This record gives sequence, structure tokens and C-alpha cells, in this order.
Amino acid sequence: MIRWDAHMCLPLHPQASFAPIDQLKAAGLNYVSINVGMDMNPVSQVLSVIAGYRATIAAHPEKYALVSSVADIERARVAGQIAIGLDLEGAMPLLEQPDMVVLYASLGVRQIHFAYNRNNSVADGCHDVERGLTALGRRMVQAVNDAGLLLDCSHTGRRCSLEIMEASNKPVIFSHANPLTLVEHGRNISDAQIRACAATGGVVCVSGVSRFLGTPNPTAQDVARHAAFLADMVGVQHVGIGLDNGFSEEGLDDRPPGDFDRGFWWPESAGYARGISDIRYTPVDTWEKLDATLQSVGMRPDEAALVMGGNMVRVAQQVW
Ligand SMILES: [Zn+2]
Repeated sequence: MIRWDAHMCLPLHPQASFAPIDQLKAAGLNYVSINVGMDMNPVSQVLSVIAGYRATIAAHPEKYALVSSVADIERARVAGQIAIGLDLEGAMPLLEQPDMVVLYASLGVRQIHFAYNRNNSVADGCHDVERGLTALGRRMVQAVNDAGLLLDCSHTGRRCSLEIMEASNKPVIFSHANPLTLVEHGRNISDAQIRACAATGGVVCVSGVSRFLGTPNPTAQDVARHAAFLADMVGVQHVGIGLDNGFSEEGLDDRPPGDFDRGFWWPESAGYARGISDIRYTPVDTWEKLDATLQSVGMRPDEAALVMGGNMVRVAQQVW
């Protein structure tokens, strides 16, 4: 079985410690997608972070492997390494230039969504005015399809995400998003979005963030409850896990340079009382408990294995 976490965040700093990755590896994870920047991070920071993470991965081949295919992930598993892919949270680092998609792919980026909470020239964010996918956005969908990267609709406006999924000729995922029917929040996704994702052949990955799970101290049980709801709606083959664990590090400032307006990116009107400082994540050992917990909500062992990674393996095989 391949265990796949579709999204997590280290400090956005080139010197970030990979100790959290070691913990995830010890908890049995085989593949993890690591965020290298959001729309609020300038390209200078994104590139610096990519260079730093790549150097750390290259310095520890006994532990880490930067991968670009499912075959690479399988090789890493056999070699006792954790496989790593990078992801971008927003299209702003693409500088309105579709050719940038291939460049980021060559640096290890395997997954991208087009807007981070707010609108940009490519797509709508989930906490902004609905406009729909722009003409440039349609070209970006084509560029991501052509480059063989995973298109992700997390953090994206509802209407815009439906248009992205309609325009894509490959399966589309939500790497970290939960059902709106279970928890009312702008970051969670409607039944229409969930059904549209499944119709592309894609996967909705359950986030482990407290406010999107609707509980102050989330556990594997909460993740399993959301996964079971999704499985009942669109079938277990369209459910995955993207716990979105965020790690900070004492003394490491990873804020974007210059004036950084937390209230713009995490608006109070959307329920972010103190930016994202009050959110809690599922514990790292969630990955050790997930198999049994998914089975405790009614999944067979083979179905739990699909949710924990089999479905994302299938999609990556089709897309990468
Ligand atoms: Zn995110």
C-alpha cells in the first residue's frame, strides 16, 4: 500500500528543517506533497524555498527522494525513502506566463491550484467575488494539462473551480478540502464541486485542519467521518487524504517580505478571527491510526487503502 498525503506545509524558508517529514515517514507515509508558495509569496521567495528544499532532499538520499512519477514513488518505497513532490498554492508565481508551468515542473512541482483565497488574473479565490475562470486561466488549464501536472481546486472560488474542472482534459483534485454539507465554511466545497471532481476521475482529499473539520482538536476519527461522507456521495474511489499539517520553527521567519496583510488573505469576514494562528492540525501519528479508523467507519481494508493513497496513485498515473 502507498500512503499519500496530498498537501502539507513546512516553514516557507530555504533553511526549514525536514524533521516533520521524518516524523511523517516514521508514521508510515510514502509520498507527501510540500507547499513551496502561495499567491502572497513573491517569486523570489518561492524560488529560494524550492532551492533550499531541493538541497535538503539531495543532501539526504538515504531518507528523501524528489519524484516525478509513480514508478519513482515505488522505487523510493523499496529503498526506504519518503517520496516528495512540491506544490504551488496559487497562479501568481506563474507571472501570467503559461510557459512557467513547465519550468516549475522541471524544479519538482507536481501539483498546482490557481488562486489562494483571493482573486487573481487567472482564477477566483474562495473568499472573494465570483467572476469565473479568465481567458488567461483557460490557457493555464491547458498548460498544466500539457505539462502533466495535477490540477488542484483547493482555495478556489466555487464557480471558477467548476469551470476549471470542465476545461481540464485530465482528472482534477482537491488536495485539501472538506464537504460544505458537514461544515459551513468558505474553504469547504459544495456537493456540486465534489460531484464535478469525481466526474473528472479526480479525488477529493480530506483536510485535517480544525475549522474545516468542524472540531477544535481534530483526530483521525474526524478525518474518517469526512472521508466516509465523501465516499457515500461519490464513491470511495474519489476520496483521498491531504492533512495540510503546517509546521513552524522557532527563529525562522517565513513571512512574505514587506507589508503583509493577513486580513486580506485570511479575511475576518470569512471566519478567520486571528489569521490562521488559532488553527489546529491532526497529530502526525494520524497516519498510523488512519487504516483502522477508516475501517471503523465502515470501509473494507481495500477501500481504506484506496483512500490512504491508492486513488491518488491512480490519478498521478493518469496525469504525470
Ligand atoms: Zn492550503
